[in-house]
Amino acid sequence: MSSHCKNSWGEAVARTRKTKPIFDTVALIGVGLIGSSLARVMRREGLAGRIVGCARTRRTRTKCRELGLVDATFASPRQAAKGADLIIICSPVSTYGAIGEAMAPSLKPGAIVTDVGSVKRAVIDALAPHITDGVHLVPGHPVAGTEHSGPEAGFAELFEGRWTILTPAEGTNPAAVRSITELWQRAGSRVEIMDADHHDLVLAVTSHLPHLIAYNIVGTAADLESVTESEVFKYSAGGFRDFTRIAASDPVMWRDVFLHNRDAVLEMLGRFNEDLSALQRAIRWGQGDALEDLFARTRAIRRGVIEAGQAEEPVAGESGPKAASRRSKKGRGAAPAKAAKARRSASRSGR
Ligand code: NAP
Repeated sequence: MSSHCKNSWGEAVARTRKTKPIFDTVALIGVGLIGSSLARVMRREGLAGRIVGCARTRRTRTKCRELGLVDATFASPRQAAKGADLIIICSPVSTYGAIGEAMAPSLKPGAIVTDVGSVKRAVIDALAPHITDGVHLVPGHPVAGTEHSGPEAGFAELFEGRWTILTPAEGTNPAAVRSITELWQRAGSRVEIMDADHHDLVLAVTSHLPHLIAYNIVGTAADLESVTESEVFKYSAGGFRDFTRIAASDPVMWRDVFLHNRDAVLEMLGRFNEDLSALQRAIRWGQGDALEDLFARTRAIRRGVIEAGQAEEPVAGESGPKAASRRSKKGRGAAPAKAAKARRSASRSGR
């Protein structure tokens, strides 16, 4: 085996796969798209001895048991966290403070609390006061998702080849950080450690702003009186279609993202508005060179994203979800029918 091969990310994942569980009991607080995808991959890879789930509604708890995602379900975070070695919060970020407060009395010394929230500074501020002595907080964010929600929407391959960013505070127990790193690596993800504020700034431009733009453009089109609704649907392949997929993302989750990463989003929005004004001027004054120069630079960025393995090069006649399926099959052999079905109806993207 060449040294290049030995050091590759795929080899690292293969080496750690199918060994022994990392945790005896894992509690998932929230079992929607992300929580259920984690449950599925933890089951597939044998990463946990036992998985318990907590959800707000009876419907979700029943669905989790029917799908065999967890061994037991609870309505209260306090009960779910009791005796768990690892607690993973997978609910909308506005719920974190109340969840932290509720589960604090049942956290056992040595337990690790982590999460998957799309913003990091606000969730650390909400959780940290409730982390008791001897418990380790290792916040995380898998930059992977789809526009679908709920326990049925998840699939084990969601994190494959994607990045997960961990934002532990300085001085966090290194063994706890290693365990969470191993969890994500064995789920197929690549892991990067980052400062929480830097995470929020980076994600504001790569994820939050694109979602805001999509919500806005779809809203603008919906409000236009001179264009009929049927025309919007009929000619959507002209670019609008791709925005509608992003703008179909969960309203509660994204409300929380914008409210909890306000400063970074507003900073990026300011930059965006300046650049948009420059484009507006270039169009008004017929500055074709300026337009062409920008479009050439952005095309190069798309190539960079494909080369980084974060998007598919489309083949003729193949749409986004098919490409995602092809990519996963390439990496892992044929996917189980359920996961393939999930991927057919969802476009994986970084969130
Ligand atoms: P989701 O599919 O809507 O699932 C949310 C889950 O949280 C549901 O099981 C819900 O239970 C539960 N929940 C809500 N409020 C709760 C509470 N107070 N106590 C306990 N459970 C509660 O959401 P998701 O897309 O998985 O997102 C979850 C987290 O992942 C968010 O923080 C989001 O920022 C982050 N994230 C999302 C994506 C993405 O693309 N979706 C990507 C990366 C990170 P019920 O069903 O019973 O209401």
